[in-house]
Amino acid sequence: MASLELKGVRKSFGSTSVLDDIDLTLDAREFIAFLGPSGSGKSTLLRIIAGLETADAGEVWLEGRRIDGLPPGERGVAMVFQQYALYPHMSVRENMAFGLKNARVPKEEIARRITEAARVLEIEPLLDRRPAEMSGGQRQRVALGRALVKEPKLFLLDEPLSNLDAALRLRTRVELAQLKQRVDAAVIMVTHDQAEAMTLADRIVVMNDRKIQQVGPPMEIYGRPANTFVAQFVGSPA
Ligand code: ADP
Ligand code: MG
Repeated sequence: MASLELKGVRKSFGSTSVLDDIDLTLDAREFIAFLGPSGSGKSTLLRIIAGLETADAGEVWLEGRRIDGLPPGERGVAMVFQQYALYPHMSVRENMAFGLKNARVPKEEIARRITEAARVLEIEPLLDRRPAEMSGGQRQRVALGRALVKEPKLFLLDEPLSNLDAALRLRTRVELAQLKQRVDAAVIMVTHDQAEAMTLADRIVVMNDRKIQQVGPPMEIYGRPANTFVAQFVGSPA
């Protein structure tokens, strides 16, 4: 079964159109990277999928269920932002438990999921700390952990590594690749970093001017860019 399906998604802010007729289908467990210049609508599209923004037209389906009318918490989607957005007054454990408590997941089940996610991300020693007592990289992992415990069908990662320094980015990239093997979910990651997209993604989506310019495996995007924009953006000869 397909994972995510977007059909004819459109969005304007006032009189400015930012997404025009977006169609996209993800395979089960597929890892997709979104590339595109700033302002090309990448974050807006993720927010529409997550239910944080409403599309003007179109449909969003996840594993055969139409989700665009559902509240964010009932969509089976977890989003990680660039700015982590951890609750500063809560410990790591409390941050990870928060959404689950609201969703009335039983206590023992919450504890089990936190233990499991903390093991996968190697954040067990951090569980009783607060965000202010951790480094940027540690906070980033906690943000990933908070998404992981929701056991979503789809992860949306909006430039999750862009606040990290180069060494940490590389390490986290490796961790994301391992995570990809372990979770039974599809992933969309927005990134500035083409090397990141190349190494992690099954397919790359290039966005510009309100539209998807090309979708394909990394080698195809770089080897056979569909138009001059894609060629120039990914830096391969047209
Ligand atoms: P990207 O993530 O690719 O940089 P965004 O989705 O953040 O692009 O933004 C796409 C366009 O929509 C930009 O021109 C941005 O200014 C505009 N935009 C995004 N969110 C809003 C909003 N809430 N109100 C008005 N304009 C917005
Ligand atoms: Mg953005």
